Amino acid sequence: MPQSSPMKHQRSLIAVLLVLLSCGFLATSLVSYYTALNSIRDGIINTELPLTSDNVYSEIQKDLVRPILISSMISRETYVRDWVIAGEQDAEQITRYLREVQEHYDTVTSFFVSEKTHTYYQAKGILKQIKHDDPRDAWYYRVRDMQAPYEINVDVDMANDDRMTVFINYKVFDYEQRFIGTTGVGLTVDAVVKLIDTYQQRYNRSVFFVDTHGRLVLTGAGGGPMGARVGQSLSEIEGLEELLAKLPNPQSGDFEYQEHGRDHFLNVRFIPELNWYLFVDKHEDGAVAGIRQSLYLNLLIWLVVTSTVIALVSLVMARYQRRISALATTDLLTRLPNRRGFDLLANQAVQEARRTANPLCALMLDLDNFKLLNDSHGHMAGDEVLRHFARTLQNTVRKSDILCRWGGEEFILLLKDTSPEQARELGEKIRQLTEQSSIHFNNADLRITTSLGLAKLHDAESLEQLITRADRALYRAKQSGRNRLCEEPL
Ligand code: GH3
Ligand code: MG
Ligand code: MG
Repeated sequence: MPQSSPMKHQRSLIAVLLVLLSCGFLATSLVSYYTALNSIRDGIINTELPLTSDNVYSEIQKDLVRPILISSMISRETYVRDWVIAGEQDAEQITRYLREVQEHYDTVTSFFVSEKTHTYYQAKGILKQIKHDDPRDAWYYRVRDMQAPYEINVDVDMANDDRMTVFINYKVFDYEQRFIGTTGVGLTVDAVVKLIDTYQQRYNRSVFFVDTHGRLVLTGAGGGPMGARVGQSLSEIEGLEELLAKLPNPQSGDFEYQEHGRDHFLNVRFIPELNWYLFVDKHEDGAVAGIRQSLYLNLLIWLVVTSTVIALVSLVMARYQRRISALATTDLLTRLPNRRGFDLLANQAVQEARRTANPLCALMLDLDNFKLLNDSHGHMAGDEVLRHFARTLQNTVRKSDILCRWGGEEFILLLKDTSPEQARELGEKIRQLTEQSSIHFNNADLRITTSLGLAKLHDAESLEQLITRADRALYRAKQSGRNRLCEEPL
């Protein structure tokens, strides 16, 4: 097929254009996206999270380390130890002492629990007798049995309407290192929680504390990761499976993990004074939302630009394609289809006639003594006669008839659904019109006649055979004197 090759070229040109545009756009978009992503990641891991951790740590030191020192001081206080060894005679004395500590150091509570009498003393007097089987007193027996000299415990304060309180519980020993009780102070966690909330909101990150067993010990008001509550273990929190695989037990360092498909950056820092780990966690979404949006915008621009360019190129190419194929199939002088144009339409007409069994006739036309006209009036006059004759033909035939300048001063007419009688009638009409018309050119009236050869398509006959027979009829018309129509036998 003559059309297939240019079409193929057009398609491959568009494909190359598409690939080039796509590669260019995608490469620049992705390179800038990943560059921005990496610099944001670097910023988060190397600067943002450690800085938050430093700030929280220094606040914690201010707020928590001081009470540890106070508790340590009480536990070493000879006055307390002497009073216990002397038999805890006057409760008012120890109460006054605890009140002094509380007021002077501005803690929310201060207490002493005696191992011998199981009495819980605090600043306002005797609170209660602790009992082994009371779950709320379990903390005392835990402290008594532990190896370390003190612990930090977040619990409700029975002496202060069960407010959430950080207790520093210190063991107290007599001069022979025998355990005689537990003392300490407590402070509400409100201040620490407020601090955590400030950091979480201001910097859009999650801050919480985890003990050495991986349990949440302190969080902001909204809870820990995925809203988990204090006391819950990290391993119980849905979504943290990937983190736990990397960090089965808490340890300091920088980590990256995914939770429900979101990338997280995590900085973990051990706080030795508390024996807790400080977790500062930031998920990528917030940080990279901006650059991801600009990537999507880039891709959208790419889509619009590429499709516009491809559409424009296709449109222009299709227009040129049409113009070129029109040029290739049209005769420039008469504007009639040339042989190439004729072939396309005529083959279709032959197939159609064969399928429908309708008659199809071919009329071959040749101007008589045209050489003579050329010689006597000039080539330009000949051209004008050809143009005029072509117009006559065009005005006489039907739209469905296929007309073509066969070459030189020869023309062919393929008449669909036309019997030889109808074809003869039409041919005769053309002959007469030609004979009767005169063409005014350069002050001369030019006259011309035409000879015609008619043939009807036989069954199983090819287009070439039909034309050959029409040509033969034309030859006979010339032979027998010109300006006449001859027919091939049916
Ligand atoms: P016959 O009656 O036997 O057909 O004689 P004829 O002179 O018409 O035939 P012949 O084949 O001898 O001459 C055809 C002439 O047509 C010769 C050629 O120069 C001329 N011719 C062919 N194409 C064109 C054209 O585009 N313009 C002009 N002006 N002349 C053309
Ligand atoms: Mg000729
Ligand atoms: Mg001729």
